[in-house]
Parts: sequence; C-alpha cells; structure tokens
Amino acid sequence: MVLYGIDLGGTTAKIGCFTEDGTLLRKWSITTDCTKQGRHILPDLARAIEADRSKNQISLEEILGIGLGLPGAVKDGLLLERCVNLGGWGGFDARKELSERMSLPVFAANDANLALLGEQWMGSAKGCNDVVLVTLGTGVGGAVMIGGHIREGCTGSAGEFGHIRVCEKEARTCGCGGHGCLEQYASAGGLCYLAERALSEHPLCPSALRDETLTPERIFSAAASGDGIAEKILDCYADFLGRGLAAAGCAYDPERFVLGGGLSGAGDALLSRVRASYGVYAFPAIQHTPICMAALGNDAGITGAARLVLTSAAR
Ligand SMILES: [Zn+2]
Repeated sequence: MVLYGIDLGGTTAKIGCFTEDGTLLRKWSITTDCTKQGRHILPDLARAIEADRSKNQISLEEILGIGLGLPGAVKDGLLLERCVNLGGWGGFDARKELSERMSLPVFAANDANLALLGEQWMGSAKGCNDVVLVTLGTGVGGAVMIGGHIREGCTGSAGEFGHIRVCEKEARTCGCGGHGCLEQYASAGGLCYLAERALSEHPLCPSALRDETLTPERIFSAAASGDGIAEKILDCYADFLGRGLAAAGCAYDPERFVLGGGLSGAGDALLSRVRASYGVYAFPAIQHTPICMAALGNDAGITGAARLVLTSAAR
C-alpha cells in the first residue's frame, strides 16, 4: 500500500509517494498555477498523481489516500480563508474536490502542522508526543503537538509563534499590524535587519559584511569565520528567539523544540546560542528542554501530509 503527500506552496507543489512505514519512494514537484484564482491547482495535482500512478502501475486499491498541506489557517481539514499567495485560491472544500477527481480519500491540514507531523514520524522528533516546531524562514511560524495530536486551535492559529511579542520598543510595524513581534527579528528579513543595525551601531568595527549585500547565508558564514560583528548579530538573533521559545515553553512544556525552515540550516553556531539564550529566559522547570534542528528539510511537508492519511484514517 502507498500514500501520497502534497505540500502546496505559492510557487511549486511538492508531491511524494510513500510506503506505510514512511519510506519515501519518489518525489517531484510541479509548478503552482496561481492564475484565475488558482482554478487549475487541483486539476494539475490530480493529473500529476494520476500520471505517477499509471507510470508505476499502481491500482486505486493500493493507495491508502492523499494528504494535502495548505499554506493558510486550516481547521478540521477546511481552509478558513482564501490564500493570498495562491492567487486568492480557497473558499471551498479542497479535500472533497480532489477526492472526487481521484476517487480516493483526501485529508488536508496546515503546512506547518504537517511539517511537525513529518518530523515526528520520520525526523528529529521521532517518538515524541509533545513537540513545539518553530519555522524560521521568510516568516516565522510553527506548530504544536500535544499528546501526539496536532493542536490547530479555535481559529487555526495555534503555533503562530512569529507574533509572540519579544520587544517593547519597536517602531517598525509587523505584517500582523503589531510591533516587536518575534518575526521582525527571527525571520530571514529580521536577521538582515539585525545585521544592518549592528553595522550602523559599530561604525568603526571592521566586518566582511560591510562590503556585501546582506543575506542570512553571508551572515552565518561570516560568523563561522570569526567576524566579530557577525557573531554579535547571531547573539542578538538568538536572544530574541530564546525569548520566544521560553514563552512557548511556558504554554506547552514540550519534550523538545524543533527548529525548521530555511534558516535552520545554519547549524551549531546558531543552535548553541539559541540553547544558551533559551536557558536564560526559560522557567526553571523547563530550562533543559532539548532544542534541535529539523531533520527532513524540504521533505517535512510531504512526509507529514502522507502521515496525515494514516492518522486520519485510523480515527
Ligand atoms: Zn506580528
């Protein structure tokens, strides 16, 4: 028996075919066509899976179902709002429509929630039942698992760690309308902002970053080669993230924190600083909660989507 997992994003949709024990048999991606309010999205996905099924001679009876990760707030499998980054797509039951096209069971959930489900099944939270995932990328998001179940929250907003307030004095406005949100410092753009700020606060301090366009990769590599300013930037970044994790820790008391998203590739230079900062801000009983990097990278979403089929079908 096999499972299909889909991670639908604004640029591409990643698709994976898995065995029931979580082995990824093959994966590929298709372009997400956001034109005409995304009306081609589901037909394109159905065609892609149908083509794989026919090429590999898989009968419908051999497929347990399809899991679908969606880039928006999802409650009980339903997308609550139209997706801005999918051309305004949404406002209908995507599960039902894909299920009718494919004649297969389809289950849907928020993409960050599925990334956590994937990490818990096959990645760095394997075997854990209480986990907090924080994703560090273009934005800062996350997901919460309590007792082995993903917590969606009443409005589908559980795990929106990017909007925990970590600074009282912030003139810039966050995408949510607030000021001083974790996302304003711990996202890729936030990290570059911290870099600009550090460079202007220490005008006489030499740094390789002065002559370059700032990117997270350049900041991490400068820190790795001992650049003093870059090290200060990471200290500051870790300080904000540690505050955010400490707040999440008080609410959920997880067995471990998993850091995912594009910036989680930064490795030990970042992780050791985040652990130290978390230890400073955390409530004493949870001071030693392990913090680790996500293990599945870009495959977390499709892995979790496949897992969703198993957990939903078992209910
Ligand atoms: Zn915010």
